[in-house]
Amino acid sequence: MERKGIDVVHAEVERIDPAQRTVWADGRAWTGDFLVIALGAELAPQEIPGLAEAGYNLYTLEGATALRDARQQLAAGRVVVLVTRLPFKCPAAPYEEAMLLEYDARKRKVRDRLEFALYTPEPGPMPVAGPEVSAGVRRLVEERGIAYYPQHQIERVDAVNRQLYFANGVAASYDLLVFVPPHLAPPVVRAAGLTGSTGWVPVDRHTLETQFSRVYALGDVTGIPLPVGMPLPKAGVFAHREAEVVAQMIAHTVQGGRGQPTSFDGHGECFVEVGDGRAGFGRGNFYAEPQPQVRLYAPGRHWHAGKVLFEKDWLRRWF
Ligand SMILES: Cc1cc2nc3c(=O)[nH]c(=O)nc-3n(C[C@H](O)[C@H](O)[C@H](O)COP(=O)(O)OP(=O)(O)OC[C@H]3O[C@@H](n4cnc5c(N)ncnc54)[C@H](O)[C@@H]3O)c2cc1C
Repeated sequence: MERKGIDVVHAEVERIDPAQRTVWADGRAWTGDFLVIALGAELAPQEIPGLAEAGYNLYTLEGATALRDARQQLAAGRVVVLVTRLPFKCPAAPYEEAMLLEYDARKRKVRDRLEFALYTPEPGPMPVAGPEVSAGVRRLVEERGIAYYPQHQIERVDAVNRQLYFANGVAASYDLLVFVPPHLAPPVVRAAGLTGSTGWVPVDRHTLETQFSRVYALGDVTGIPLPVGMPLPKAGVFAHREAEVVAQMIAHTVQGGRGQPTSFDGHGECFVEVGDGRAGFGRGNFYAEPQPQVRLYAPGRHWHAGKVLFEKDWLRRWF
């Protein structure tokens, strides 16, 4: 399909040369006046020995679908939700998953025969959102009887004996394992020399421009450091707003730079599903200094309804 000055190519990008603003796909080179890199994150369970064959990858459709079926057979044992590495997209997702599985066990009247635990390398839940939000999410998890183990970096998994081995010497057993896999910048982005010391693409945090003129990157592929020493979370809400800013930046340049271009201001929000048909809601400014200003609203049915409507709206718009 060709529209005024825009080529849409539905093909695997094989190579990127940011200095020339050129990508190779569909057997040919495409050179633009602007280049926007929005290739997300590669999920890499193979980075942790034994992980891929041990449990359910929450971050793929295949893994989530298999988990949906497997948990219906679950009547006794130890359920572990495991965050394997930082950073990972949607910082709330593993916490939501643990709470939803616990809720499911109560609904199926098998809760008293199941144990729930969450292991993560983070110092606490969603630490970038600040100590209050982090403590609030931890409270939500622990008041449901889910044992929480922060600062546990997984090293390897023994799928045969259902054992997890952590860098701090701790070993833990599981009967059902749900994991958030390690994330890497996509191979084509790494090969292009676009990634910095963090392994992600550094950009100007307001314009999303990379070190290459008129080459932008947005969403999960970027690494945007915050003054608190942690990166901006990888989340759809940020990818969406960054995309709007990049589109406006490009339009502004094409129109001769008249007026004031918009810039990305680090504001974002997310729902936190807690089970029982309820969700909490976090919202704030992640660019605030000296630390992000984020507020967590107490769980309620209205936030859950808001998430359902939000999802329906996106599905209606795009599918
Ligand atoms: C379980 C789960 C729950 C989540 N919940 C939330 C939430 O509640 N709120 C929220 O804000 N965010 C949430 N997220 C995060 C959100 O989905 C991501 O942050 C968002 O999709 C990032 O957008 P992106 O465009 O950067 O990357 P993506 O959406 O991953 O898009 C990148 C695309 O590039 C493609 N690609 C990669 N390499 C190539 C190549 N070489 N050639 C061609 N195409 C390529 C990929 O296949 C992909 O389609 C969740 C994520 C997960 C996994």
